[in-house]
Amino acid sequence: METVDCVVIGAGVVGLAVARALALSGREVLLLEACAAIGTQTSSRNSEVIHAGMYYPSGSLKAELCVQGNRLLYAYCVARGVAHRRCGKLIVATTTAQLAQLQAIGARAAANGIRDLVLLDQAQAQEAEPALQCIAALHSPSTGIVDSHGLMLALLGDLENAGGILALNSPLALAKCAHNAIELVAEDGTRLMARSVVNAAGLQAPALAARFVGLDPVHVPKAWFAKGNYFSLTGRSPFSRLIYPVPEAAGLGVHLTLDLGGQARFGPDVQWIASPDDTQVQAARGDAFYAEIRKYWPGLPDGALQPAYAGIRPKISGPSEAASDFCIQGPRQHGVPGLVNLFGIESPGLTSCLAIADLVCSLLSNE
Ligand SMILES: Cc1cc2nc3c(=O)[nH]c(=O)nc-3n(C[C@H](O)[C@H](O)[C@H](O)COP(=O)(O)OP(=O)(O)OC[C@H]3O[C@@H](n4cnc5c(N)ncnc54)[C@H](O)[C@@H]3O)c2cc1C
Repeated sequence: METVDCVVIGAGVVGLAVARALALSGREVLLLEACAAIGTQTSSRNSEVIHAGMYYPSGSLKAELCVQGNRLLYAYCVARGVAHRRCGKLIVATTTAQLAQLQAIGARAAANGIRDLVLLDQAQAQEAEPALQCIAALHSPSTGIVDSHGLMLALLGDLENAGGILALNSPLALAKCAHNAIELVAEDGTRLMARSVVNAAGLQAPALAARFVGLDPVHVPKAWFAKGNYFSLTGRSPFSRLIYPVPEAAGLGVHLTLDLGGQARFGPDVQWIASPDDTQVQAARGDAFYAEIRKYWPGLPDGALQPAYAGIRPKISGPSEAASDFCIQGPRQHGVPGLVNLFGIESPGLTSCLAIADLVCSLLSNE
């Protein structure tokens, strides 16, 4: 049976970043992807926002990896010519009750080491964005947008230049964990041995880990799926920055993001679903968007929203539970040498991809 040093499962933005980092550290890397192309799942169904890291509890992996990832990602985009824009964002309070939430976000941001937030009063916010209605806003200048496909192509280029190999149409079926190597069995029956395995299978990561013989099931969280639907705006965007309401329970609220072409879209909402394959956007869900958006943009014309696309959050906490942190388990957590599982890599996973990759490399090199 063939033996490979490292196998990374899943060629989304996180798997690509991890495979690249392992290859650049001098290791032999095979990246297995179930689909016929890279990044066709959650990594191409998101807001493409480079988050600054102000929402997450301080000390959490989300906070640490987002703040590091933001810095690393801007530097990487500049170095590798990946299209991006540091457009900034406004988090808006539209009721006096929300002022306290804005202040709490500001305090959390400071605890997470973010020093560039500026609190704007109503006049300052409206001077910056004349179409906006709010009573105050927090301006985050280090929030931006990135071409996620360009980013993934750049990561793949680096992986291949460092000698790594991508195998498309190669779904992994199961693994058998032993003391000095992990045996991998692909769905077509192909077998190979690996010294290190990284499970970056996104929405499928818990289901796949449940098929790792030798991994105690106590270390595999239950998967939950929260769909986020997007609607695009017909016509020109009245805003030049991203506009976010104060966050809601399972997401960041129906916000306005821009793509690099200046097209505006609204979303994602939160729709708990049973299947990770349900990515159809039902036009009727747009009805609820109008009222939410008009809280901060009263000028939204009737009929201006068109169904766009949906992404599914790979959650590991359910609708009635507190939001969970990224769950990155190495040998120290689960006791299987050479294995790293990445669970619950929802937002800000795109922003954090390079920082997650560094963490995974260190978990494997500290063995
Ligand atoms: C609605 C929404 C909005 C978001 N907005 C943002 C944002 O603005 N900014 C931000 O930072 N983050 C955002 N995120 C989060 C970000 O998109 C994800 O964290 C990131 O894309 C996860 O990447 P991944 O590589 O872990 O997963 P994925 O992109 O899902 O990749 C996993 C890959 O594994 C493959 N795979 C699965 N099973 C197997 C198998 N058995 N064998 C081989 N391959 C397998 C899949 O085919 C897939 O290609 C958002 C997420 C959602 C859902």
